[in-house]
Amino acid sequence: MKLHELTIHHAHELLRKKEITALELTQAVLARIEAVEAQVGAYISLFPEEALVQARAADKSLAMGTCGPLTGIPLAIKDLICTQGLRTTCASRILENFIPPYDATVMQKLKAGGAVIVGKANMDEFAMGSSTEHSAFKPTRNPWELASIPGGSSGGSAAAVAADMCLGSLGSDTGGSIRQPAAHCSVVGMKPTYGRVSRFGLVAFASSLDQIGPLAKDTTDCALLMNAVCGYDPNDSTSVPEPVPDFTTFLTPGLKGMKIGIPKEYLPAQGLDPDVDQAIRNAIRRMQDLGAECIEISLPHTRYAVAVYYVIAPCEASSNLARYDGVRYGFRDRQADDLIQMYRRTKSQGFGPEVQRRIIIGTYALSAGYYDAYYGKASQVRTLIMNDFKQAFERCDLLLSPVAPTPAFPIGEISDDPLTMYLSDIFTLSANLAGIPGLSIPCGFSRNGLPIGLQLMGRHFDEGTLLKAAYNFELATDFHKQKPRL
Ligand code: GLN
Repeated sequence: MKLHELTIHHAHELLRKKEITALELTQAVLARIEAVEAQVGAYISLFPEEALVQARAADKSLAMGTCGPLTGIPLAIKDLICTQGLRTTCASRILENFIPPYDATVMQKLKAGGAVIVGKANMDEFAMGSSTEHSAFKPTRNPWELASIPGGSSGGSAAAVAADMCLGSLGSDTGGSIRQPAAHCSVVGMKPTYGRVSRFGLVAFASSLDQIGPLAKDTTDCALLMNAVCGYDPNDSTSVPEPVPDFTTFLTPGLKGMKIGIPKEYLPAQGLDPDVDQAIRNAIRRMQDLGAECIEISLPHTRYAVAVYYVIAPCEASSNLARYDGVRYGFRDRQADDLIQMYRRTKSQGFGPEVQRRIIIGTYALSAGYYDAYYGKASQVRTLIMNDFKQAFERCDLLLSPVAPTPAFPIGEISDDPLTMYLSDIFTLSANLAGIPGLSIPCGFSRNGLPIGLQLMGRHFDEGTLLKAAYNFELATDFHKQKPRL
């Protein structure tokens, strides 16, 4: 048995029965990182010494019997979640040497649960991108095909799980950044309902869309990570005091009585790869075999989602990123002669081209005279998109769709073509605009052996139904059990 290949729930069982120790488990994961990280490039920072200290502490609580499901479990954290005393870069030169003086709420929760943090995962700079090519430090490679992207922006988090360089990870999803890399790397990824997980200590990209969520080797692990990170937090004014269920209680066999809506606008869809189309149709049939009823529904306004998102997200980003001015923290150009030149030079050297593009678009769209035409109009259409979902959920319990229109593309293929890159978010953005939960699970492979993901979307705060459907799909298939050859 290779320890680094364990799921969280299996590792927990072995730890509890004292068949393995947290130290052995962490050492196995660190050895795996040592062996494959040079090929994959999933991490920006690694903390092997700190991880071993945490593992020893976990072994103590295991010995005393005061352990939880994450005690001694090695995890990776996307590098835009603040970790006290440990560098948090957002994959940007502007935060290259930033060491947060506090832990994000999710970090406090993971630490309290005894988890072992092995490192900070690579991502697109400030989470802007769908390929992890926009990291200021290096691209991450897809463990299934090293010449291809792992998806993004949580590409490091997804690749680390897929390549067994951690047992699970956290990412963030503003417009698909957990679900799309999960799909491209054949792991499970969930964007929880907006407000379900505290954003305190998550470096803000687009505040009305951002959510932290788990990436995992299977649905059970996803549920366990959800249990650990969800919950109301007075430090985040948009967090919702909704009771958090034990998400593992939804993992029961049988889909009888479940109604799944298939958005007719998504299948067939323009530009949808035939292998993806086929895999999704097979998944629909599988859900029916499992007892679910599949009905056609319509989301007429989601065709505006890309346009709406790429106004709202850059507007909010331009406001959020104004704080990186070189004055209080982060990179500062020291050669400037005056204040304005210092701002200008700090930002042009500190931010990469994609981040600069978003700031410029957002600043333009928010400027006097354009606000109503862009941000105002986009917000109105956002409401129409929300209403589409509300109506759909009157007729069904969840929605099923592709995650990405194509399997992972080769590194460099569309990195200079922002519009094509933006269009690849077509199926994922609407869930963020509506604030509803979304999940990606492995559902097949293309003829070239690249993973394909299936998206399930649900009502606000109904992550449980998504996990139940995903769990049943998993019981009936073995896509999630396959491993990349590295
Ligand atoms: N690809 C989208 C973007 O570039 C989504 C990113 C995300 O979810 N963080 O904005």
